[in-house]
Amino acid sequence: MARDVGPKCRVCRREGMKLFLKGERCLTEKCAIERRSYPPGEHGRGRIKQSEYLLQLREKQKARRYYGLLEKQFRNYYAKATKGSGITGENLLRILETRLDNVVYRLGFASSRAQSRQLVRHGHFHVNGRRVNIPSFGVRPDDIVTMAPGSAAESVIRDATDLTASVAPWLQADHEGLTGKVLKWPERAEIDTPVQESLIVELYSK
Ligand code: SF4
Repeated sequence: MARDVGPKCRVCRREGMKLFLKGERCLTEKCAIERRSYPPGEHGRGRIKQSEYLLQLREKQKARRYYGLLEKQFRNYYAKATKGSGITGENLLRILETRLDNVVYRLGFASSRAQSRQLVRHGHFHVNGRRVNIPSFGVRPDDIVTMAPGSAAESVIRDATDLTASVAPWLQADHEGLTGKVLKWPERAEIDTPVQESLIVELYSK
């Protein structure tokens, strides 16, 4: 599956906030947002004409890049979210949050979503005892996520757990045993993604 391989710090600078796309580096003073907190490019420090459309577009781009998705994948998730019951924006965030690569990251088993995606892709995680190497795999309540027995990435995964201060409240992690459990579907208040999903819905509803 294709993925966004563009410069990550540039994305944070464009959105004007830390999106934590690079793991440990994001926690250091080398972070580009700390050093150059204006948008990238020749006109980065110029005046930008604000508009409703621009606000909606930026919010969508931020969410898409936060989860490391391409436009088509993101749009497909939106289409799926509109078909569910309840609030479309919240459905969208719930679908994005329950992707296996995000769950591995939220459990603290990877230092970034990009690393998590690669670990999943290379078969270093099991879901309910079965190897799953699809980053977009959707987990459900009561699913158990474990490191594959004898995984060569164990030291990388343990290093990532050392960087993790807290685990999302809808998940339960055992950093010693490298296992995690999905306790329930995440509520909006339990998702700390820095986006206003209603703006994304407005954009796609046009
Ligand atoms: Fe974003 Fe991390 Fe780069 Fe800072 S170091 S700009 S948080 S990707």
